[in-house]
Amino acid sequence: MRESPSRLVLVGEPLATLEEFFPGDGTFEKDGVIYSSRIGRVSVDRNRRMLEVVELKPLLVPKPGFKIIGSVTGFSSHYANVRIFYVNGNRLSYEYTGLVGRESFGRSYPRFRTGSLRNYVRENDLIYGEVMSTVNVNLIDLSAKEYGVVKAYCGNCGSPLVLFKKYLTCPSCRTRENRKLSVFYNEQIERLVARV
Ligand SMILES: [Zn+2]
Repeated sequence: MRESPSRLVLVGEPLATLEEFFPGDGTFEKDGVIYSSRIGRVSVDRNRRMLEVVELKPLLVPKPGFKIIGSVTGFSSHYANVRIFYVNGNRLSYEYTGLVGRESFGRSYPRFRTGSLRNYVRENDLIYGEVMSTVNVNLIDLSAKEYGVVKAYCGNCGSPLVLFKKYLTCPSCRTRENRKLSVFYNEQIERLVARV
Protein backbone atom coordinates (compact mmCIF):
# COMPACT_ATOMS: atom_id res chain seq x y z
CA MET A 1 0.00 0.00 0.00
CA ARG A 2 1.50 3.28 -1.02
CA GLU A 3 -0.50 6.07 0.37
CA SER A 4 0.08 8.90 2.73
CA PRO A 5 -1.02 8.02 6.26
CA SER A 6 -3.08 11.19 6.35
CA ARG A 7 -5.16 10.57 3.25
CA LEU A 8 -8.78 11.59 3.68
CA VAL A 9 -11.25 8.77 2.99
CA LEU A 10 -15.01 8.45 2.78
CA VAL A 11 -17.27 5.70 4.08
CA GLY A 12 -17.05 2.49 2.06
CA GLU A 13 -13.76 3.23 0.34
CA PRO A 14 -11.60 0.16 -0.26
CA LEU A 15 -8.29 0.79 1.54
CA ALA A 16 -6.21 -2.38 1.45
CA THR A 17 -6.44 -6.16 1.51
CA LEU A 18 -6.33 -8.50 4.50
CA GLU A 19 -2.97 -9.74 3.26
CA GLU A 20 -1.53 -6.28 3.78
CA PHE A 21 -3.14 -5.18 7.04
CA PHE A 22 -5.42 -6.11 9.89
CA PRO A 23 -8.65 -4.11 9.91
CA GLY A 24 -8.58 -1.67 12.83
CA ASP A 25 -10.91 0.98 14.22
CA GLY A 26 -13.02 2.75 11.65
CA THR A 27 -12.82 -0.06 9.10
CA PHE A 28 -14.66 -3.22 8.14
CA GLU A 29 -13.62 -6.21 6.10
CA LYS A 30 -15.49 -7.92 3.31
CA ASP A 31 -14.21 -10.66 1.02
CA GLY A 32 -10.62 -9.99 2.03
CA VAL A 33 -10.80 -6.25 1.43
CA ILE A 34 -10.62 -3.60 4.16
CA TYR A 35 -13.07 -0.72 3.74
CA SER A 36 -13.49 2.53 5.59
CA SER A 37 -16.51 2.67 7.90
CA ARG A 38 -16.26 6.39 8.57
CA ILE A 39 -15.03 9.67 7.18
CA GLY A 40 -11.55 10.26 8.42
CA ARG A 41 -7.86 9.88 7.81
CA VAL A 42 -6.06 6.63 7.21
CA SER A 43 -3.57 5.74 9.90
CA VAL A 44 -1.22 2.79 9.52
CA ASP A 45 0.71 1.05 12.29
CA ARG A 46 3.35 -0.84 10.34
CA ASN A 47 4.65 -2.77 13.35
CA ARG A 48 1.25 -4.18 14.20
CA ARG A 49 0.23 -4.15 10.53
CA MET A 50 -2.91 -2.40 11.62
CA LEU A 51 -4.90 -0.02 9.44
CA GLU A 52 -7.31 2.41 11.06
CA VAL A 53 -9.46 5.29 9.96
CA VAL A 54 -9.13 8.07 12.52
CA GLU A 55 -12.15 10.29 12.90
CA LEU A 56 -11.73 13.87 11.80
CA LYS A 57 -12.14 16.47 14.45
CA PRO A 58 -14.83 18.85 13.30
CA LEU A 59 -13.31 22.00 11.87
CA LEU A 60 -13.72 24.85 14.28
CA VAL A 61 -15.49 27.58 12.36
CA PRO A 62 -15.42 30.88 14.24
CA LYS A 63 -18.82 32.46 14.84
CA PRO A 64 -19.79 35.83 16.30
CA GLY A 65 -19.10 35.80 20.04
CA PHE A 66 -16.16 33.41 19.84
CA LYS A 67 -13.08 34.63 21.66
CA ILE A 68 -9.82 34.79 19.79
CA ILE A 69 -6.12 35.40 20.32
CA GLY A 70 -4.05 36.47 17.35
CA SER A 71 -1.27 38.67 16.14
CA VAL A 72 -1.31 41.67 13.83
CA THR A 73 0.52 40.80 10.63
CA GLY A 74 0.14 44.07 8.74
CA PHE A 75 -2.19 46.73 7.44
CA SER A 76 -4.23 47.00 4.26
CA SER A 77 -6.22 50.16 3.52
CA HIS A 78 -8.36 50.80 6.60
CA TYR A 79 -7.82 47.50 8.33
CA ALA A 80 -5.21 45.61 10.31
CA ASN A 81 -4.77 41.98 9.32
CA VAL A 82 -4.74 39.47 12.14
CA ARG A 83 -3.55 35.89 12.15
CA ILE A 84 -5.74 34.02 14.61
CA PHE A 85 -4.03 31.36 16.76
CA TYR A 86 -6.65 30.47 19.34
CA VAL A 87 -10.42 30.27 19.11
CA ASN A 88 -12.28 29.68 22.40
CA GLY A 89 -9.12 28.26 23.93
CA ASN A 90 -8.39 25.85 21.08
CA ARG A 91 -5.16 26.25 19.18
CA LEU A 92 -5.88 26.29 15.46
CA SER A 93 -3.82 23.97 13.31
CA TYR A 94 -4.68 25.81 10.12
CA GLU A 95 -4.29 29.37 8.92
CA TYR A 96 -7.11 31.63 9.95
CA THR A 97 -7.26 35.36 9.57
CA GLY A 98 -9.38 38.28 10.70
CA LEU A 99 -9.50 42.05 10.48
CA VAL A 100 -9.43 44.91 12.94
CA GLY A 101 -10.92 48.21 11.82
CA ARG A 102 -12.35 51.37 13.36
CA GLU A 103 -15.61 49.51 14.00
CA SER A 104 -13.65 47.09 16.21
CA PHE A 105 -13.43 49.75 18.90
CA GLY A 106 -17.14 50.44 19.14
CA ARG A 107 -19.12 53.38 20.45
CA SER A 108 -17.68 53.07 23.91
CA TYR A 109 -14.41 54.37 22.54
CA PRO A 110 -15.29 57.61 20.74
CA ARG A 111 -11.74 58.86 21.11
CA PHE A 112 -10.60 55.88 19.14
CA ARG A 113 -12.83 56.74 16.21
CA THR A 114 -10.45 59.30 14.82
CA GLY A 115 -6.81 59.18 13.94
CA SER A 116 -4.66 56.42 12.65
CA LEU A 117 -5.51 52.80 13.36
CA ARG A 118 -1.86 52.47 14.35
CA ASN A 119 -2.66 54.34 17.57
CA TYR A 120 -4.68 51.29 18.58
CA VAL A 121 -2.94 48.26 17.13
CA ARG A 122 0.39 47.78 15.36
CA GLU A 123 2.34 45.08 13.59
CA ASN A 124 3.34 42.11 15.78
CA ASP A 125 0.93 43.06 18.57
CA LEU A 126 -0.75 40.15 20.26
CA ILE A 127 -4.46 40.82 20.62
CA TYR A 128 -7.33 39.31 22.54
CA GLY A 129 -10.80 39.91 21.15
CA GLU A 130 -14.11 38.53 20.02
CA VAL A 131 -15.44 37.70 16.58
CA MET A 132 -18.11 40.32 15.83
CA SER A 133 -18.99 39.38 12.28
CA THR A 134 -18.12 36.63 9.84
CA VAL A 135 -19.88 38.15 6.83
CA ASN A 136 -17.25 38.34 4.05
CA VAL A 137 -14.44 38.69 6.60
CA ASN A 138 -13.88 37.84 10.25
CA LEU A 139 -14.19 41.19 11.93
CA ILE A 140 -12.76 41.30 15.45
CA ASP A 141 -14.28 43.30 18.27
CA LEU A 142 -11.75 44.84 20.66
CA SER A 143 -14.10 47.30 22.36
CA ALA A 144 -14.66 45.66 25.77
CA LYS A 145 -12.15 46.41 28.50
CA GLU A 146 -10.84 42.86 28.58
CA TYR A 147 -10.20 43.05 24.84
CA GLY A 148 -7.39 44.76 23.02
CA VAL A 149 -3.64 44.49 22.82
CA VAL A 150 -2.16 42.05 25.35
CA LYS A 151 1.44 42.26 24.20
CA ALA A 152 3.19 44.95 22.17
CA TYR A 153 6.69 45.63 20.95
CA CYS A 154 8.58 48.89 20.65
CA GLY A 155 8.39 50.33 17.13
CA ASN A 156 11.84 51.78 17.62
CA CYS A 157 13.92 48.92 19.07
CA GLY A 158 11.61 45.89 19.20
CA SER A 159 11.67 45.39 22.98
CA PRO A 160 8.43 44.29 24.65
CA LEU A 161 6.61 47.39 25.91
CA VAL A 162 5.69 47.63 29.58
CA LEU A 163 2.99 49.61 31.35
CA PHE A 164 4.62 52.36 33.37
CA LYS A 165 2.31 54.78 35.17
CA LYS A 166 -0.48 53.99 32.70
CA TYR A 167 1.78 54.63 29.73
CA LEU A 168 2.99 51.96 27.38
CA THR A 169 6.73 52.49 27.56
CA CYS A 170 9.82 50.84 26.16
CA PRO A 171 12.17 49.87 29.01
CA SER A 172 15.18 50.04 26.64
CA CYS A 173 14.77 53.26 24.68
CA ARG A 174 12.01 55.01 26.69
CA THR A 175 9.77 55.40 23.65
CA ARG A 176 6.09 55.82 24.55
CA GLU A 177 3.43 54.31 22.34
CA ASN A 178 -0.36 54.22 22.18
CA ARG A 179 -2.55 51.17 21.93
CA LYS A 180 -6.06 50.09 22.77
CA LEU A 181 -4.98 47.92 25.68
CA SER A 182 -6.71 44.95 27.23
CA VAL A 183 -6.91 44.87 31.03
CA PHE A 184 -4.94 41.64 30.63
CA TYR A 185 -1.98 43.43 29.09
CA ASN A 186 1.24 41.48 29.69
CA GLU A 187 -0.56 38.44 31.05
CA GLN A 188 1.18 35.18 30.16
CA ILE A 189 -0.24 33.63 27.03
CA GLU A 190 -1.00 30.35 28.86
CA ARG A 191 -3.12 32.17 31.44
CA LEU A 192 -4.85 34.17 28.76
CA VAL A 193 -5.67 31.05 26.75
CA ALA A 194 -7.16 29.53 29.91
CA ARG A 195 -9.53 32.52 30.08
CA VAL A 196 -10.47 32.28 26.44
ZN1 LIG B 1 12.44 50.66 22.37
